[in-house]
Amino acid sequence: MAEENIKRTDVNELGEFGLIEHLTQRFPLSNPSSVKGIGDDAAVIDNGNFQTVVSTDMLVEGIHFDLMYTPLKHLGYKSVVVNLSDIYAMNARPKQVTVSIALSNRFSVEALEELYDGIRAACNFYKVDLIGGDTTSSPKGLVISVTAIGQGEKGKLAYRNGAKVGDLICISGNLGAAYLGLQLLEREKQVYLSNPGVQPDLEGHDYLVGRQLKPEARGDLINAFGKVGLIPTSMIDISDGLASELFHICKQSGVGALLEESGVSIHPDAEVQAINFSMDPITCALSGGEDYELLFTVDPQDIDKVKYMPDIYIAGEIIPAEDGIKLNTKGGNLHDITAQGWKHFGNKN
Ligand code: ADP
Ligand code: MG
Repeated sequence: MAEENIKRTDVNELGEFGLIEHLTQRFPLSNPSSVKGIGDDAAVIDNGNFQTVVSTDMLVEGIHFDLMYTPLKHLGYKSVVVNLSDIYAMNARPKQVTVSIALSNRFSVEALEELYDGIRAACNFYKVDLIGGDTTSSPKGLVISVTAIGQGEKGKLAYRNGAKVGDLICISGNLGAAYLGLQLLEREKQVYLSNPGVQPDLEGHDYLVGRQLKPEARGDLINAFGKVGLIPTSMIDISDGLASELFHICKQSGVGALLEESGVSIHPDAEVQAINFSMDPITCALSGGEDYELLFTVDPQDIDKVKYMPDIYIAGEIIPAEDGIKLNTKGGNLHDITAQGWKHFGNKN
């Protein structure tokens, strides 16, 4: 039984980030133009006068989206937006995208036209050009992989590793809504599956469902930063939940964080829905995902540049690493924040 001697490690033992680290550890950057490789929202390539920023994300049917409640047009839009979000998170501007799809014969030309209507809408809104991709077949379901290419100015990019003790923690927009939108869609799906005669009841939930199905990337903020001459000391987009993103910044910057619950904005609809689901709204903000807002840190000298910026909330301070990553609740209690990470490998779809 030779097979018994072959080591087999389950990918779940490493988790997503551990797996990426493990697989990519012996790939040192050798070209001087490779400014930043693996480990940030996007890679950075030096082009002399400017820097090129590149990011790729893959969306897999049954893992990242469910076509029972995701219109293909929205899916096309979202698959572009989530990539643009990573470019903005570098304080850069997206210019081009490539789109690759793998599809089973379940999809008709008309269905794919819908998908591309959404891709076109995102390209038009964010002023990016579709410049290529790849098309192939898949035994089951749909896979969409988008690569976004952007431009940044030398010296103005924001990495995950630049936060310093004393910096202010800032968050754009409100958090938790996209997660609650997903929970509502999942609930209606279950109702429908157990009784197909019942129509989904999503009335009054436009905001939450909209945040899940049609997210936007915060390019408006990159423009706002440029206008006031602000360069965040670090930045990341909030795709996996605030806790996880704060962990990335702290780990890569070698710092800790004191997050104020009162500084985390939660939309009133999200607040009500969380309570209806017997969840704590702040937990939805910390551990829910897909808000595509920006988490960034600024030097305290720049406080006036962010204090009056619309839709930006100052939500705490960077502290020494040995002081940990903590949440100061509205009630004045200090809690350790735990990273929720990513559990897609646990999904058996
Ligand atoms: P984000 O959540 O911002 O999209 P990810 O967590 O997906 O970022 O990726 C973190 C980093 O790891 C990025 O720099 C990404 O390019 C890199 N990465 C992810 N998967 C792989 C892989 N299979 N091979 C090489 N690099 C990878
Ligand atoms: Mg990101």
